[in-house]
Amino acid sequence: MARRCPFTTTTASYLLGILTPQEHAEFDRHVRMCSACRREIEELTPVVRLLTAIKADHASANGQPG
Ligand SMILES: [Zn+2]
Repeated sequence: MARRCPFTTTTASYLLGILTPQEHAEFDRHVRMCSACRREIEELTPVVRLLTAIKADHASANGQPG
């Protein structure tokens, strides 16, 4: 079993774009050296895309711009 990286909890926030610019840059640097986080990003990217699409769909269904 690979040791769990403490940064993996940041991955979802990173993908959702809700990190501060400083946190984003820090995580960006970390990901280059961390295969656990890269794998996490690969796994979460489709989920985040789906959630973003649902959110956009919901917004347009309600006639709300964003
Ligand atoms: Zn990591």
